[in-house]
Amino acid sequence: MQTESKVDLYKSLPSVDELLRKEPLAALAAQHGQLPVTDAVRTVLGSLRNQIAAGRLDGEKLGLALSGLAEAVEGELRRASRLSLTKVINATGVILHTNLGRAPLAAGALEHIREIAEGYSNLEFDLAAGERGRRDVHVDRLFRKVLAAATASRSPQPEEGDRPGISTIVVNNNAAAVLLALNTLAEGAEVIVSRGELVEIGGSFRIPDVMAKSNAILREVGTTNRTRIGDYERAITDKTRLLLRVHRSNFEITGFTEQVAVEELVRLARERKIPLLEDLGSGALLEGQASRLDREPAVLDSLRCGVDVVTYSGDKLLGGPQAGILSGRTELIARMRSNSLFRALRVDKLTYAALEATLLAYVRGDYEQIPVLRLMRLPKQEIGRRAQAVVERIGASRLSVERIDGESLIGGGAAPSAVLPTCLLALRSDRLSAREISARLLAFDPPIIARVEEGRVLLDLRTVFPEQDPALAEALRQVANSEPEQRAG
Ligand SMILES: *Cc1c(COP(=O)(O)O)cnc(C)c1O
Repeated sequence: MQTESKVDLYKSLPSVDELLRKEPLAALAAQHGQLPVTDAVRTVLGSLRNQIAAGRLDGEKLGLALSGLAEAVEGELRRASRLSLTKVINATGVILHTNLGRAPLAAGALEHIREIAEGYSNLEFDLAAGERGRRDVHVDRLFRKVLAAATASRSPQPEEGDRPGISTIVVNNNAAAVLLALNTLAEGAEVIVSRGELVEIGGSFRIPDVMAKSNAILREVGTTNRTRIGDYERAITDKTRLLLRVHRSNFEITGFTEQVAVEELVRLARERKIPLLEDLGSGALLEGQASRLDREPAVLDSLRCGVDVVTYSGDKLLGGPQAGILSGRTELIARMRSNSLFRALRVDKLTYAALEATLLAYVRGDYEQIPVLRLMRLPKQEIGRRAQAVVERIGASRLSVERIDGESLIGGGAAPSAVLPTCLLALRSDRLSAREISARLLAFDPPIIARVEEGRVLLDLRTVFPEQDPALAEALRQVANSEPEQRAG
């Protein structure tokens, strides 16, 4: 196409003002408001300009496009007013899927959010005293109950005096919790960390970067695969303010390795009177949950051992809202609370409401209420039975649907070996590739996210809520009976 004729095409595009003055767009603007309609018109005209630039429109095609301009603007208005965040069906079997919003919330947490958020609350008001209060008291109270077992068996520090015990504060996420702890306890001074623990965790959380931002100085010891207690001992100088231990999370070092036991680090920390901070990451709050999960650290275990402060996420194994939690010696937690960074990293009432209700379920021992714990406990036979029911609902089809043994993943920074036995639905078709099947499942409402492995589509019902089974079966039935797409240009 000639440049000259492109100029003519551009010239034949109406102006935004011109369009808005005339029907049918004037009526549209009266109905939906001037601003959104103007935006939609700009978008539609912009897209036409791009198509002219790309040489995809001649005079005739442009004329056609302009005759359908009102419909295009209406379509654009609808698109623009649709919500972007949307519910999906997670059929990946990854329980804490970072891309799919990690932990689903308990019904009690949702109810409490609604109750607190739709009106006013005592977020920072002490009802007993009738005066200004603190927002962090609401969850500290429950954390004390959940972590009481650790306080009872923990040997107190000499300087704890009349304020012994374990306190907890909450910030925006675990990355923020680590930042706050490092800045409070070691600003301008050295923090000793094993080289084997300097890993990057889910979506660019890097200890050296967080350390730099906290103004603490990283002092690496040992090697990637082996670090001994002597390495820490030799590195301690009068500049050392903190010992840091980091859970390696979704990274495993196997073979010739050596990591210092928490007990040894606690002993060294106490001997030298330097606090020990442990970044647990997923931080299992439930007793016994960690041991079943192969190397997932438990909050209680670390505190019992005598770790001074632990940090962990609210939306990983705990099964609550996104949050970073700092639990530890009252005196150290008090210092973090008075750091101005705490104010910058604080969470809102929605988070406190969700977290409080989730913790209450722990206090009551009502673990079935917490989706993450419920999904983890689902027996393979139960998942297999539901998978069979889905197969029967699909009925006769041109899709091969097979039930096979497989593994669900904990995810969310848990070790890659933290898996649970499950029953998978494996889909294969002689007409559609695995990618095509997966793309069609994504196009459903709600979209269905599956795994694609070795030319098959794998669905794990562990992470699909039972009430979603019929929708999943219906989607599979439609995919099974659909024709391969004619490839459009
Ligand atoms: C997940 C994780 C983090 C980051 O936590 P967010 O809540 O995502 O900020 C930090 N450290 C460890 C060890 C983790 O597993």
